[in-house]
Amino acid sequence: MATIIIHSNTLNFEQAKIIERVYGYAGKPVKVNNHFRIQLNEAPTREELNQLANEIKVDINLLPDGFDTSNVKLVISDMDSTLIGIECIDEIADYINVKPQVAAITEAAMRGELNFEESLTQRVALLKGLDTSALQKVFDDRLFLNPGAETWISGLKEQSIKFALVSGGFTFFTDRLKEQLGIDFTRANVLAKENHQLSGSVVGDIVGAQAKADFLNELCQQLNIQPNQVIAVGDGANDLLMMNEAGLSIAYKAKPAVQEKAATALNFSGLDAILDFIV
Ligand SMILES: [Mg+2]
Repeated sequence: MATIIIHSNTLNFEQAKIIERVYGYAGKPVKVNNHFRIQLNEAPTREELNQLANEIKVDINLLPDGFDTSNVKLVISDMDSTLIGIECIDEIADYINVKPQVAAITEAAMRGELNFEESLTQRVALLKGLDTSALQKVFDDRLFLNPGAETWISGLKEQSIKFALVSGGFTFFTDRLKEQLGIDFTRANVLAKENHQLSGSVVGDIVGAQAKADFLNELCQQLNIQPNQVIAVGDGANDLLMMNEAGLSIAYKAKPAVQEKAATALNFSGLDAILDFIV
C-alpha cells in the first residue's frame, strides 16, 4: 500500500476532477487534519507525482516506506533559504559592497557545484574588515521567516517534537532565532572578530555538510531516539548528507539537485505543510 499526501486543506472541483482522472474513484482523496491522503496499491513514480502536482498547483508527496508519521521525535532544519527567506552571508556582504561576488559563490555552492567548506572560506574572507554592527542590521532589517514558519514550529511544540536549527551560516543569527522562536537546539559557524570588525575567518571547524549530518546523529543519541524518527529539511546541496540520515527528507523550495535526491519536496506550500507528515 502506498500513501500519497496532498498538501492542501481544500480541493476545488477542477483539482478533484484531475485527481479522479489520474487515480480513478478508488484513489479518492480522504481528508486527514489539514491535508488529503490517497491510498494506492502501487506507488506512483516521482515524475508522475510532479506532473500531477504541477497540474493542480498543490504539493503531492509519497510517504517513504518504513517512515512512521506517528512516531516523529525530532525535526532538524537548515536556516538560510529554508527557515528564513534570505542567505545571511549575501546580505552581510552588501554592507561591504561585495554582495554580487558572495552571492554568486553561495548560489554555486547550494547547487552543489562547489565544495561547501571551501566556498564558505572564500566568502567569509571577502567580509574582512566589516564593522560587526552590520550583522544586527541584517537581522533587524533584512531577515524574514519563510511562510508558515511560526505555525510549523508551534505545531511541533504542541506535539512535544524537538526542533533543531543547523546552519552553514552563523551563530549570530541562529542564536537570535533560537531565542525568538523557542528553538531547542542550534549549531552554526562562529564568525571571528577583532575590535568590532570581522576578521575574515570562522572560529574552529566549519559547519559544513558532514557536520550537519553529525549534528543529527548526535541529537539522536542525546534524545535516545533513532534517525528514522527524524525529519530533515533543507534546500541546498550541503543539506543532503543530513537529509540522507533522516527517516524523512524534505526538499523545501530546493535546488534541483536536492529535489532529485530528497524523499519528498515542497514547492507550492509554506513550511507549515511539514506538519502533514506528522499525524
Ligand atoms: Mg539553505
